[in-house]
Amino acid sequence: MGLGRGRALGDEGAAVSKGSSYARIARRQRQLVEAYGSTCWRCGREVPTQDVWLDFVIPRERGGRNTLANLRPAHRLCADAARAAIKGEVDRG
Ligand SMILES: [Zn+2]
Repeated sequence: MGLGRGRALGDEGAAVSKGSSYARIARRQRQLVEAYGSTCWRCGREVPTQDVWLDFVIPRERGGRNTLANLRPAHRLCADAARAAIKGEVDRG
């Protein structure tokens, strides 16, 4: 059924796209730390570079862009809390 060949190609494709995505995030983390420092913009505490969460100033749901100017370093938990608060606002209308 041509299983061997199809499978090999599929695996290769997945590995490549996954790898480039991680590399892109790691690059963004470094750019953010260089631009804004390694502190969470929400709570003001230190964030290890590899743990920096790319937090949107203007949420993507509201048309925010995926650019350095619209991103700030944050803890993931701080970003999640902010997103939850925004969702609450949206739900209330
Ligand atoms: Zn924080």
